[in-house]
Amino acid sequence: MSFSKICLSRFAPLGSPNSLSAFPFSLPVPLTRAHKLTCAQHISCSCSASSSSSSSSTHQKGASTRWRPMCLYFTQGKCTMMDDVMHLEKFNHDISRDLQVDAAAFQHKCSQDLDFFLVLDLEGKIEILEFPVLMIDAKTMAFVDLFHRFVRPSKMSEQHINKYIEGKYGKFGVDRVWHDTALPFKEVIQQFEAWLIQHHLWEKGRGGHLKRAAFATCGNWDLKTKVPDQCKVSQIKLPPYFMEWINLKDVFYNFYKPRKSEATGMMGMMKNRQVPMFGSHHLGIDDTKNITRVLQRMLADGARVQITARRNPDSRNVQYLFEDRI
Ligand SMILES: [Zn+2]
Repeated sequence: MSFSKICLSRFAPLGSPNSLSAFPFSLPVPLTRAHKLTCAQHISCSCSASSSSSSSSTHQKGASTRWRPMCLYFTQGKCTMMDDVMHLEKFNHDISRDLQVDAAAFQHKCSQDLDFFLVLDLEGKIEILEFPVLMIDAKTMAFVDLFHRFVRPSKMSEQHINKYIEGKYGKFGVDRVWHDTALPFKEVIQQFEAWLIQHHLWEKGRGGHLKRAAFATCGNWDLKTKVPDQCKVSQIKLPPYFMEWINLKDVFYNFYKPRKSEATGMMGMMKNRQVPMFGSHHLGIDDTKNITRVLQRMLADGARVQITARRNPDSRNVQYLFEDRI
């Protein structure tokens, strides 16, 4: 595949311009061709220990309003080029930017049982490679914070990792940033717990579920299958906050009542609700943002977004709480 083809598929927002009027968000100006061809990430990086990439107050000197890809060092709290105007022009450093909600979209909103949703979309079939979590306020639908880390497999040879990453992230042009920043899953979980505690969503030592919040995923795979599998590989106990979650597909299916084939995945739900896609499908951070945009749409339309699945900590069986499921 050619370089330009790769970049066009990664960065071009999809969806017909005519569909945008039905959308409850403020939309950035679409890319010009010249901007779509900009793929390179940083020339250098620093691997600071920063655990948060909170960005709601970020000011981007010299950055225009057109859409551009996220700086994947910034999303992990590791961008060292915040004073470089060219860099700010190439890459987005404001995570909330594609998640702005139009106040007029609030008219159908209903009250929610939870205060925050943590949208999660893992990447990695053999081992987890990317762990992005987007925190959304359930009442205002506004972006609160992001936790994003690339994850280094723990039971794979260097040669296998290099091949795996080239195949997975090379096509998006972000394999370099992956190699520069990926951490072992155990370390990612430690940093994630510090992030949860910082947001008063969980208390270490007390065990138990999240407080006032729940994970929201597209399907059950992330928390039913992948996280428990990775915990075994990384030889850590499954953390108690992963015991329940919201499968957005089940909520979507029960709320909008589409044909089953229209709620089987992120793309189907986006198409069904005319939510335009940004970024690259299967880049975890971009998928998480797009799933968040579907969630915002559901909240704006009046869906009550509730827990759909719960794992029994003793038997490890998963109980599904919705009768009609995808
Ligand atoms: Zn940056």
